[in-house]
Amino acid sequence: MEPKKKTQHPEATGKNKEESVVISRVRINIRCRLCFMVDGYLPEERKCRHCGAELYRIDAV
Ligand SMILES: [Zn+2]
Repeated sequence: MEPKKKTQHPEATGKNKEESVVISRVRINIRCRLCFMVDGYLPEERKCRHCGAELYRIDAV
């Protein structure tokens, strides 16, 4: 019986490029104009988490 060679690991290459992705997820604290709740929102979030009203970036606190 010949032992199968397991020397090829496709995941072993390109290891060093995994740490610069997470940084862009920055939350901004925005105060809702309707219910006045302040919460942290991602850039793509446009609605208030509490009442569903529209959020404005200029209301960031
Ligand atoms: Zn609200």
